[in-house]
Parts: sequence; structure tokens; C-alpha cells
Amino acid sequence: MSVFLPTRENLERVAHEIAQGELAVLPTETVYGLAADALNYAAVAKIFELKGRPADNPLIVHVSSVEQIEDFADSVPDVVRSLAAAFMPGPLTVVLPKRSSVLDIVTGGLDTVAIRIPDHPACLAVIELSERALAMPSANPFMGLSPTKIDMLDRSIADSVCSIIDGGACTVGIESTVLDLTGEPTILRLGSVTREEIERVLSHKIGEGGTAHKAPGMYRRHYAPRTKCLATTAIDPATAGLVFDEPTNANQIRMSSDPKVYAQQLYASLADLDSQGHDEIFVVLPPLTAPWMAIWDRISKATATA
Ligand code: AMP
Ligand code: MG
Repeated sequence: MSVFLPTRENLERVAHEIAQGELAVLPTETVYGLAADALNYAAVAKIFELKGRPADNPLIVHVSSVEQIEDFADSVPDVVRSLAAAFMPGPLTVVLPKRSSVLDIVTGGLDTVAIRIPDHPACLAVIELSERALAMPSANPFMGLSPTKIDMLDRSIADSVCSIIDGGACTVGIESTVLDLTGEPTILRLGSVTREEIERVLSHKIGEGGTAHKAPGMYRRHYAPRTKCLATTAIDPATAGLVFDEPTNANQIRMSSDPKVYAQQLYASLADLDSQGHDEIFVVLPPLTAPWMAIWDRISKATATA
């Protein structure tokens, strides 16, 4: 495992490796990513191989500027500029019609491409220094928990990449919100950018839950620990259904009352409990309110049986 701090020298070396067709694990604000040059077929194919990811599950292309979106999207609607002003760099991915130069392997054969600008200086530096866009899914085996810190990395992924950049714990902790802009704006996956925040920028209501055709790679079970994971309802009504920071059982996830802190710690907490040899892990369900919806999505996928 070759782990390096994000010094200028190390980032330059990783950028060079990426340009040479190597893979790297990079920090982003959401989760750690497994990165390759988005225009290098063999490098992107290695991402699918290392993750065990099905070929029809498309990858997000990471760029460092709004202008660079145009290198991959065939047409960029004006609304992208408003969304960019509000959320980019940040955890919002936009799905747009793709340019013909975008590799089919990246888009899972779709005629659309998902693009975002990560809000992490090390990741942005690698994009800029390599002069490449990065195809970059989360750096976990297919279906597993996304790593939000280096010690959560799967050993075989860690051993198969050229370099790993340690940027500390990810600040957001869950994956980006994916917004389809190829028709009426539709949320395909919720992340820390909420539906309400997007609606404020667009000045109208938006839909959610694209069709299977529009949202490939959305599975009922995902983001899951190996141990059986169960959701449980409120234990103490006085805390509105939450047991803040005071788990009643050793195998119950520790929770914060702040959804942002909760999201940041969710995968690491599940990974921690996963390594302790319990028969079952319990997650107390949070309130069914707007700031918690992305967390509901992740919990329902972590607890799904198939
Ligand atoms: P991950 O990289 O694991 O966070 O997953 C990225 C997700 O973005 C995929 O599972 C897809 O659901 C979604 N995605 C990527 N590209 C597209 C696309 N062209 N159209 C619709 N959804 C996409
Ligand atoms: Mg993923």
C-alpha cells in the first residue's frame, strides 16, 4: 500500500501516473475515489475490474471547472451555470447528453454522461496537473461501504493502485446528489445537496427517482456492511426517535443529532461495527425530514437484504 500525503510533489507524481494510465485512490469531500484518466479505455476498464462493478453501472467524470464540463457534455443548458454558482465545486453531479468522444465504458453505453467538480484541493490539483478528467467511482468493492478515510480501504484495491493520497477524513461522508438534466430535472440519487436546495436555485419543484433506464447502477442493496444490518425505530420518544451519541447496545451505530455530522460519520461507524464480529448491527432511524433524506436512502440500502 503506497500512501502519500497531499504535498505538491506527491500530487505532481500522482498526476503523472494518471496521465500514464495508472490508477490512484484520491480524497474528495464526499468519499475516497478510485481514479483513472476518463479518456483511457484500459485504465477505466481496470476500475471496473478492481471494484467488481457491473459494466452497466456508469462512472462519474470529475473535472476541475465549469468550462471543462463542455469537453464531455454535448450541450450544457443555462441551468448548469446557476447550479454551478450554488454548488460547484461540491457534491452535486449533473447528468447531461454526452459528446461522442466520451467512452462508452464510462457511461455504461448510455448517451448521457454524469459530471461533477469535487470540492477537494488534492483531487482538483490532480485533475489540473494531469490535464485529464477523472473517471472516479467510490474506492470500494461493488456494493460495499464507501471509504471515508484511508484505513477503511479494501486491501486488494489499495494494493492494486499506484498511489493513495491521504487527505484525512472526508468532510461530507456520503456520495454526491445525482441530478438528471437531460429532460425535466430529476434527482436520480440523493446526496448532501438536498432537493429543497436545488429547487431554490431552479425556482421550481423537481422530480425524484428516475426510471431504471435513466438511473442504472441504483440497487436496492448498496453501501452495506458485511454484517447483517437492521433498522430500528425510536427507542426514546423524548429524543424524537434518535438516540444521540448514547447507543443503548454495543452493536448500535453511534449517531449525531446533526445530519451533516451523521453523514460524515455513517460509513466509518458502520465499518467499525462491521469489524467487531457482531451477529447484527442496529441503526436507529432518523426523523423523516428534508435534511435526513439522503441518510434515509443510505440506511435503507445498507439494511436491504438483496
Ligand atoms: P458512484 O460512482 O459509485 O458514486 O456511482 C455513480 C452513480 O451515478 C451511478 O451508480 C449511477 O447511478 C449514476 N450515474 C453515472 N452516470 C450516469 C448517467 N450517465 N446517467 C444516469 N446516472 C448516472
Ligand atoms: Mg459507489
